[in-house]
Amino acid sequence: MATKKWVYLFTELDQAEKYVNGEWERVRALLGGKGAGLADMTRAGVPVPPGFTVTTEACNAYSAAGKFPEGMWEQELEAMKDTEGATGKKFGDPNNPLLVSCRSGAKFSMPGMMDTVLNIGLTDETAAGLARLTGDERFAYDSYRRLVEMFGEVVLGIPDEAFEHPLANYKSRKGYRLDTEMNAEDWKELTETFKRVVREQKGFDFPQDPYKQLELATEAVFKSWNGKRAVDYRRATNIPDDLGTAVNIVTMVFGNMGNSSGTGVAFTRDPSTGEKKLYGDYLLNAQGEDVVAGIRNTEKIQNLQQEMPEVYQEFLNIIDKLEQHYKDMQDVEFTIERGKLWMLQTRSGKRTAKAAVKTAVDMVNEGLITKKEGLLRVTPEQVDTLLHPQYDLKAQSQARTDGRMFASGVNASPGAAVGQIYFDADKAEQMAKEQGLDVIMVRPFTKPDDVHGMIAAKGILTSEGGATSHAAVVARQFGKPCIVGASMLRIDLEHRQMEVNGKVIKEGEWISIDGATGEAYLGKIPVTAPSLEEQTDLLTLLTWADEICATPGIRKAPQGWPTRGLQVWANADYPRDAQRARSYGAVGIGLCRTEHMFFEQERLPVVQRMILAESSQARTAALNELLPHQRSDFEGLFEAMDGYPVIIRLIDPPLHEFLPSEEELLEEVVTMRVKGETDGLEAREKLLSSIQMLHESNPMMGLRGVRLSIMMPEIVEMQVRAIFEAAANVTLKGVEAKPEVMIPLTGTVKELEWIQPRLERIAKAVMDEKGVNFHYKFGTMIEIPRATLTADAIAKLAEFFSFGTNDLTQMTYGYSRDDAERNFLLKYVEEGILEKNPFQTIDRPGVGRLMRIAVEDGRKTRPDLEVGICGEHGGDPDSIEFCHLVGNNYVSCSPFRVPVARLAAAHAALKHSGVMIAEEK
Ligand code: ADP
Ligand code: MG
Ligand code: MG
Repeated sequence: MATKKWVYLFTELDQAEKYVNGEWERVRALLGGKGAGLADMTRAGVPVPPGFTVTTEACNAYSAAGKFPEGMWEQELEAMKDTEGATGKKFGDPNNPLLVSCRSGAKFSMPGMMDTVLNIGLTDETAAGLARLTGDERFAYDSYRRLVEMFGEVVLGIPDEAFEHPLANYKSRKGYRLDTEMNAEDWKELTETFKRVVREQKGFDFPQDPYKQLELATEAVFKSWNGKRAVDYRRATNIPDDLGTAVNIVTMVFGNMGNSSGTGVAFTRDPSTGEKKLYGDYLLNAQGEDVVAGIRNTEKIQNLQQEMPEVYQEFLNIIDKLEQHYKDMQDVEFTIERGKLWMLQTRSGKRTAKAAVKTAVDMVNEGLITKKEGLLRVTPEQVDTLLHPQYDLKAQSQARTDGRMFASGVNASPGAAVGQIYFDADKAEQMAKEQGLDVIMVRPFTKPDDVHGMIAAKGILTSEGGATSHAAVVARQFGKPCIVGASMLRIDLEHRQMEVNGKVIKEGEWISIDGATGEAYLGKIPVTAPSLEEQTDLLTLLTWADEICATPGIRKAPQGWPTRGLQVWANADYPRDAQRARSYGAVGIGLCRTEHMFFEQERLPVVQRMILAESSQARTAALNELLPHQRSDFEGLFEAMDGYPVIIRLIDPPLHEFLPSEEELLEEVVTMRVKGETDGLEAREKLLSSIQMLHESNPMMGLRGVRLSIMMPEIVEMQVRAIFEAAANVTLKGVEAKPEVMIPLTGTVKELEWIQPRLERIAKAVMDEKGVNFHYKFGTMIEIPRATLTADAIAKLAEFFSFGTNDLTQMTYGYSRDDAERNFLLKYVEEGILEKNPFQTIDRPGVGRLMRIAVEDGRKTRPDLEVGICGEHGGDPDSIEFCHLVGNNYVSCSPFRVPVARLAAAHAALKHSGVMIAEEK
């Protein structure tokens, strides 16, 4: 049997495609994003230095066996021969040495997670040869010392300081400030020093066999896949562990061969705002990572036009072609070697939420992508970010006038962050995680080792680096507000403080950073919620989302079920919430909790009187006082939702929630008795004994919901009267009211049989009294497992179901949410006993299965049964997708989540269009 092909030349893309049946996503999985991009550019005629890719399959085989798989190394040697042929150079040949880089690259780009080694192939001999050949000794030894350093760090695991200190010492001894002041002799001497460092640290010499260098570097990339940094990053971004990384071996091109050479990175559009304008930095006489590391101050890419007009034009043509080819914003790396342009990488650029929305909408309008593609380019989480708090503008300008702005830098990632400063990643993570503090991480610049601190922080501030530095790229990806290159800051890591204009700011002090303007302020600046109305691109995108969801037939479903996508409704208890919900695009109220109305100051005493009443008459009298209040609340809701359905839930919580706390009252009574105070004692004692009578050992499962209505029907009778009187009143004013009365916590249809006809009689009576007619429904919440299992019977009375997934989850798991979240849920998720917190994301196999049964059985009885969800899950994208698959008519969530839910609903519709939903178990 022929051995497997583990290695593909950049010119062998066709073969790779054939191996995976032509699917581009699988090519990317096999060759990694970087490798696939290099091969694809090569095929398109873009200048890419010759090279090859060792596949992710080889990495996985290595991880499993702990050694290179059979035949892989031989294929790598073979590919080196081909590369020699393509370049006319020879690996290890002092007369014309081939040098290569060894670069990692998984399917999904993981910025800075895996380290690249440049200049492989340099040895004492070939370095001397390179110096002769190029006539540039300085260049040769600069390259050689870089190899020894990178190889030492990445492959041999020697700490950076071991190299950085000798370099710093050397420079200060010579009185140099910049690396550019180092001459050939200096680099040569430093190379020797670095080689000594390797010997001292490792006990063996830096390998003088180029093939040994190649072998060890390849292995190091494989190993780095399971390194801590890479694993942390994958956890944070949900990248699966079994993808593996590829290894790319690329002929070196040199940006550090004088001032006709250079290197840079660029985005085809602005990754911060999404604006269609080239965005990037470059450096002359530098090697790649100098720009990315943000150590030297870079030039704007546009300046290259003056410096090298022809190269610049060629570059523009290439990146334009790349954007057209990939139909997405590209992030490219390039190097110019003595006036010749080489492309070293292209990938879809990471971008802020704002840029994601703008580029998606622009590209649809440019005709580059379809609306569907545009919608899928933006994640629901990004929409969420755009609706997150930003600084209150007045407070911000006040802070400016007060002179609290202490620094400004590059606006690398937008958003407002307020927090206490910490100067290293471990401490930042610790303060955020263990102490629950809002942390801003402050560093001179960040490195891959710092990512855990950045993830834990609310924002990031650095004193060095540009818009494409590590800190900026990572911050944008995680949606963290970030300022880089605030060069006026003098950060003193040792004393854990920073100094600016003579002012010292110490660890733990509060600052506020504005990632959109790049300004940093002392102290806290209050934040406000941004307005959706002003975000026109987002509005456009959401309109397209609604269009997709409204497409008939986009959901393939059993006969009679909805075939459009989900509608998005909102949970709102007050007219002002309903108005916000509507302005955010909700087309119904899925849950109005009436009990909130009972808590208002002037009403609570009446409510308490009602509860404690000793006769039905006394209770009715108190209720009659409450009725006008409830009626006017409902009128406001119907007016706000003119033309849209409004689901009102009848009283749900146990009555003790409306009464003073038993413990406090007991304490008061005891104190009064002890002190011999009699004034008001009797009334308190009476109240206490009533409360004690209402005491339940497990109120969550006690007298509440429909059970309470059966024990005390007067309350819900009043509520239904208020609902229908309100609906009648607004109807007479020309408003289209669509009340839907929801009975909570049903466990058996018999409960509905007992209560619902009484309530319907009231509804009819009110309509007769008022002489108006309008559309209404009676339905129930489905939140008890038994209700889901007897849904066919329940649907005989209920005209709609609304899943109360919070209670349904509590009762399905047998967890009380508060206790679970406080005591064990976190551990369960960490240990993998639960995949996710089931109170945030619907547990599909358990709770979700009950939901499916309820919908299917309910619709057997009543084909046009309206089904929704009103638990918090209604705003969670994963749960929304599941609601689409279950056959819900709508999801209902908090008004602020409505835009997120609209996009998530469209994603669900697009992702599953044409698939029969009821079969997807
Ligand atoms: P990352 O995934 O961190 O971007 P890369 O593999 O792209 O790592 O490489 C790091 C830096 O080295 C980049 O600036 C890249 O352009 C540069 N580089 C990589 N290979 C070569 C090469 N063959 N010639 C010149 N520069 C290179
Ligand atoms: Mg790169
Ligand atoms: Mg409930």
